[in-house]
Amino acid sequence: MDSSDIEFDMRHIWHPYTSMTRPLPTYPVVSATGVDLVLPDGRKLIDGMSSWWAAIHGYNHPVLNEAAKSQIDKMSHVMFGGITHPPAVELCKQLVAMTPDSLECVFLADSGSVAVEVALKMALQYWQSRGEKRQRFLTLRHGYHGDTFGAMSVCDPDNSMHSLYNGYLPNHLFADAPQCQFGDEWRPEDITSFKRLLLQYHGEIAAVVLEPIVQGAGGMRIYHPEYLRQVRQLCDEYQLLLIADEIATGFGRTGKLFACEHAQIEPDILCLGKALTGGYMTLSATITTRHVAETISQGEAGCFMHGPTFMGNPLACAVASASLKLLSDSPWQQHIHSIETQLKTELLPLKAHDAIADVRILGAIGVVEMKQVVNVAELQRHFVQQGVWIRPFGRLIYLMPPYIIQPEQLSTLTNSIVSTIN
Ligand SMILES: *Cc1c(COP(=O)(O)O)cnc(C)c1O
Repeated sequence: MDSSDIEFDMRHIWHPYTSMTRPLPTYPVVSATGVDLVLPDGRKLIDGMSSWWAAIHGYNHPVLNEAAKSQIDKMSHVMFGGITHPPAVELCKQLVAMTPDSLECVFLADSGSVAVEVALKMALQYWQSRGEKRQRFLTLRHGYHGDTFGAMSVCDPDNSMHSLYNGYLPNHLFADAPQCQFGDEWRPEDITSFKRLLLQYHGEIAAVVLEPIVQGAGGMRIYHPEYLRQVRQLCDEYQLLLIADEIATGFGRTGKLFACEHAQIEPDILCLGKALTGGYMTLSATITTRHVAETISQGEAGCFMHGPTFMGNPLACAVASASLKLLSDSPWQQHIHSIETQLKTELLPLKAHDAIADVRILGAIGVVEMKQVVNVAELQRHFVQQGVWIRPFGRLIYLMPPYIIQPEQLSTLTNSIVSTIN
């Protein structure tokens, strides 16, 4: 890649949340191996982002490469309507086995946002089958569930795109986000706003949808498991479905295989994505109970009304299946625990710094919240100069490295944050 390629990119290619008139700099990456992203001149950046929660085993992993190569020689894709295939069956066996016992019916979708759309549609069809008109969702402020319309409608109403799409989006219910952090003493008033909305609107609500324990893109907030436990209790009391969006938190990131385990609860519908294929390609899954699946199937439509063209893509399923096996065969709990301990040692002292509002850590997630909004382009340039890939947003500088990161590599990441702030 030369400078004309970069110019072409700036002029013709959208990147996530970017402008075509004031594009932010992009950095060309030509390959990636282990925890390193390789630039055209051969320089390496240690990756602190796992390509947005996904590349948990690192890049260019021989086992995942082999899974993709061996599947591509058999078939890379075949339609899922009326046809099934070994990679999908194998993957779904693993998903059913590793998720809570009650979750047994798997819908394979194409991306996280679509998995959320599917979950919302499942809840709507569930109530339709039961002959009740329930079309609202109760969710939390500071949530993030994706960029498609349904998913967008349950994202934080202030910090997302609600005002831009005013009139197009359905009007859902937003409880105050939990204030009690993970590890704090529980304060019962934390759940008051949620409870009040539930009491007032439960007859209209199809489901509660939330990110368990860690609210990701809506603020990297890590909250008290008691909040989640009480949400489950209230859903049971009022017979509402609970949708857990574990697209970011799933597959070990928080120290548990799924974040719901911190509260020892089970959702009625679970959304998975991001790390599902170890970051190799896009694939997601929405998993529900037999009760929900059967109720939907007995409704007027007689089936669940969704079926993407690339549903159950064999190539993606084969890699996902290999990635899940790699995870369960690895001492991932130990890796996450070491990363957590090191993040605490190296980042928590920043709490005393004048420019810093908060530092919070759970599992392989380390978040430094500044008092002021950061200049992303400037900070990013600085990080690249220091040989690390860290992408801040808003007031947040955060790390969620691949699980295979070595202590000295992780220190390079944290040192770079500490020195930048100083
Ligand atoms: C990233 C994310 C999504 C959306 O996934 P995409 O693959 O980007 O569509 C949904 N929910 C949560 C919690 C996420 O972190």
